Amino acid sequence: MDQTKIDTLRAQPVPCFSHLIDGQQVAASDGATMEVLSPIDGQALTRIARGTATDMERAITSARAAFEDRRWADQPPAARKKVLMKWADLIEADALNLAVLGVRDNGTEISMALKAEPGSAAATIRYYAEALDKIYGEIAPTAGDILGMIHKEPVGVVGAIIPWNFPMMIGAWKLAPALAMGNSVVLKPSEMASLSLMRMAELALEAGLPPGVLNAVTGEGAVVGETLGLSMDVDVLVFTGSGQTGRRLMEYAARSNLKRVYLELGGKSPNIVFADAPDLTEAAKVTAAGIFRNAGQVCVAGSRLLVEASIHDAFVEEVVKAAQAMRVGDPLRLDTQIGAINSEAQLARNLQCVAKAEAEGGQIVTGGQRLLPETGGSYMAPTIVTGVTPDATLAQEEVFGPVLAVTPFETDAEALRIANATVYGLAGAVWTSGLSRAHRIVRGVRTGVMHVNTYGGADGTVPLGGVGQSGNGADKSLHAIDKYINLKTAWMKL
Ligand code: NAD
Repeated sequence: MDQTKIDTLRAQPVPCFSHLIDGQQVAASDGATMEVLSPIDGQALTRIARGTATDMERAITSARAAFEDRRWADQPPAARKKVLMKWADLIEADALNLAVLGVRDNGTEISMALKAEPGSAAATIRYYAEALDKIYGEIAPTAGDILGMIHKEPVGVVGAIIPWNFPMMIGAWKLAPALAMGNSVVLKPSEMASLSLMRMAELALEAGLPPGVLNAVTGEGAVVGETLGLSMDVDVLVFTGSGQTGRRLMEYAARSNLKRVYLELGGKSPNIVFADAPDLTEAAKVTAAGIFRNAGQVCVAGSRLLVEASIHDAFVEEVVKAAQAMRVGDPLRLDTQIGAINSEAQLARNLQCVAKAEAEGGQIVTGGQRLLPETGGSYMAPTIVTGVTPDATLAQEEVFGPVLAVTPFETDAEALRIANATVYGLAGAVWTSGLSRAHRIVRGVRTGVMHVNTYGGADGTVPLGGVGQSGNGADKSLHAIDKYINLKTAWMKL
């Protein structure tokens, strides 16, 4: 990849973004817009429509009409596949533009955004496009005079609420299987990173998705997100974001039409390192990348390092070295390894979490401070806190920033006990050469994803979903399709 191309794109002005309703770009019903600030330099980037409840209702009505007249659901599978494949091609063809736009909006380092955003979104869309004509109903084993059939039907209107980290990747995890199964979708991007996802939604229409099948409304969660959550005309809500918002969505469902709600929430994932790890230097580097990439703004980040006491000091020293070697700064530079914090508010919260960890007895062995204030952007040094007790706030609450909590353990049982002592259960890792130990720890940690001798990198063929307060249901893989279908039994007397 060529830095000059990125520099050319970053200098271009960003157009204002409207909603996408019924195949048209539509301003907010009251004409209101909101400013988008770039975390790279704190400067205004563009404006997006500040959606109203009326806008969201209009988008839902459009999606409902598109579903009821079956303009998408009843197309031959090969036709739906063709549109989705074209959509993936358009995303790929525009990948650099989309990645740079996304980075200017949310601050993810460009090297990661290029892989994890348009590239991964296109791969996800192709995966479900390929799958859609391979999903069959079933015939039940019955007596000879009965035919028992199980149909797999689209659920109807899906509301998809997306966070600011990895908007295209996470957006595709929801949109692709929902659309592949014939549903209509109302998309609500995060007000903190709408631009690349809105552009990606526009490309779906350019690829031939009929108007109304995918509508997108920008604006505040508390306004347009709430209207979507409370709608009587939305059948399923799929969400990635904070636990606090996840709870609200469940309340909205209870207060309205009992719509199904699938939540992908936060984590406090344990990265467990035993003294018999195959390569401790490699483990230290991957441990640092596993928490500090995207400045820790990764749901599956390994934010708790549990390290066997006998190697604690030496291993922490290696992780500190690896962290200090990571380049923090301008996310649009190809050699940057830790980009910007998404907002000033999030940066302030990160610093507060570190201060509290120190007040509770933790020792900051590296980082702990804001960086590059002269840029006007939001940057933070990768931070490692040792001596974090399992019940300390830093061991219990998600920071969603570049902060690693370190806790020693003596035995396998103690490692498991500490690993499971949070309300979360999203990801984790174990580093060991012992085959049996690896399997025992994988089985023992209450989580959705466990890595062995690595951290991160799981592709679209495997599910990602949390247990406990990390959520329910799964994105990715064929398992995700279950969220977007209803099973209907047809019991026939022959
Ligand atoms: P957030 O909950 O603040 O916002 C997520 C989305 O919800 C945004 O679109 C927002 O506008 C919307 N929203 C906010 N209030 C709402 C309301 N009252 N009603 C309806 N919608 C509302 O989360 P965030 O700060 O954007 O994202 C960070 C969180 O997401 C972290 O906790 C992180 O761990 C989690 N996350 C989880 C995964 C996963 O796969 N489990 C992936 C990425 C991020």
